[in-house]
Amino acid sequence: MKHPPSTSPHRITIANQKGGVGKTTTAVNLAASLAVLDVPTLLIDMDPQANASLAFGLDYRAGGPHVYDAMIGHCTLDEVARPTELAHLRVVPSHPDVVAAEVELVDHPDRARLLANALDGLVAPPRVILVDCPPALGFLTLNALAACRHVLVPLQCEFYALDGLARLLNTVELTRRSYNADLSILGMVLTMFDKRNRLSHQVADEVARHFPDRLFRTRIPRNVRLAESPSHGKPVLLFDVLSSGAQAHLELAQEVQERLQINQG
Ligand code: ATP
Ligand code: MG
Repeated sequence: MKHPPSTSPHRITIANQKGGVGKTTTAVNLAASLAVLDVPTLLIDMDPQANASLAFGLDYRAGGPHVYDAMIGHCTLDEVARPTELAHLRVVPSHPDVVAAEVELVDHPDRARLLANALDGLVAPPRVILVDCPPALGFLTLNALAACRHVLVPLQCEFYALDGLARLLNTVELTRRSYNADLSILGMVLTMFDKRNRLSHQVADEVARHFPDRLFRTRIPRNVRLAESPSHGKPVLLFDVLSSGAQAHLELAQEVQERLQINQG
């Protein structure tokens, strides 16, 4: 499925309400790979666990504004975005306090569109905006879905991979109807694929059968370097570029570019 070329930023939400399926690993390393391929990219951490922020060495304990400050208009996203070691990549960090947002903003008239409004205010939007979601279908994921055109769903190669997917797709559909008519599924990506494991192949076959035109060709292998690199505050490309994990994310980035018809630069 191809999308028409566009000069406005491609906004992609990385979502799956299941925990630990590889959302953050995909968000961090896809963002870094796009940046290395000369695609100006902004990664937004919407998860109060702040794992994507930490993966770039951004520790909330050091203070500084975070995504919630921009959502409630205390500052702009441009003021919150931090530079990284990669010239083409900036990161908007999260903070555990963001978890309070859902309750604090319960009566806010535009509560689902706070991130969308903050993104609309970017002075010089990059080519791609990636949003890493928490493992829930609550207020924060709703804000991400309402702000983006595309959803990328990481699926872990295990027995329950497709469990709960219907609920995610239903939430996407409801968001499309209520907040964001352009929203659609960009694709599914298989994570933690182990080619020696029969179950990995069975899951891959099943996902391909259900979503023949949505499944990315690239499978992210289980690779210890992907699990190690966050503790060094680096995406895997800057930690071990030759690792299978780094190479797979580069391939995924190229596939995303193809699907979105993104020209580099
Ligand atoms: P959460 O739902 O808590 O936000 P998540 O969906 O963002 O989790 P990750 O944090 O990306 O999932 O991954 C869960 C764990 O699995 C992490 O410890 C991560 O380092 C590890 N992991 C993810 N992908 C891989 C992989 N391809 N190979 C090896 N380890 C991986
Ligand atoms: Mg995560």
